[in-house]
Amino acid sequence: MAKYNGPVCKLCRREGGKLFLKGERCFSDKCAYDKREYAPGEHKGMRRKFSEYGEQLREKQKLKRTYGLMEKQFKKTYRTAERIKGITGENLLSLLERRFDNAVYTLGFAVSRKLARLLITHGHFLINGKKVNIPSYILKEGDKITVCEKSRKCDIIKDSLESAARKTRPEYYEADLDAYQGVLKGIPARDEIISNANEKLIVELYSK
Ligand code: SF4
Repeated sequence: MAKYNGPVCKLCRREGGKLFLKGERCFSDKCAYDKREYAPGEHKGMRRKFSEYGEQLREKQKLKRTYGLMEKQFKKTYRTAERIKGITGENLLSLLERRFDNAVYTLGFAVSRKLARLLITHGHFLINGKKVNIPSYILKEGDKITVCEKSRKCDIIKDSLESAARKTRPEYYEADLDAYQGVLKGIPARDEIISNANEKLIVELYSK
């Protein structure tokens, strides 16, 4: 799968908000966005004005980058959202939230979605007792994620669990970190999803 290997803090500055792509660093005073809340190439206090198309594009880029997806994969998820009954923008957010890599991150087994993807591809997790190494796997209601027995001693996972206590977790994910497991309790509804994304702009963009 294609992936972005450039400097991630620049993405936060470009999108004008913290995307929390670097784990613990995002909560520390080393956060580049907290130090320079303006886009690369701009000066302090000089925020660019965007056209309608520019606003829609920025919103799409922000959401795509938050979940660490490349364009092709993001668009594929959008097309899936279109085919599901209901409101496309809300379906899109729900699908992104139910990605396996997002679940591992949200439950606290990884400090970032990027790290979650790496751990998943290395086979550290089970879904309903079976090993799954596909980060884009979409969870269903009731799916249970467990850290493999032999992976519980993994330093990266242990460190992530230590910082997991500080995390705000949406209600549809329930974690039992002492048992190294978590469950998707229900399909996320828009008002339960912790996101300031304006998904309507993304729908407008892709509907052109
Ligand atoms: Fe974004 Fe985290 Fe870098 Fe801050 S530290 S700019 S939140 S990736």
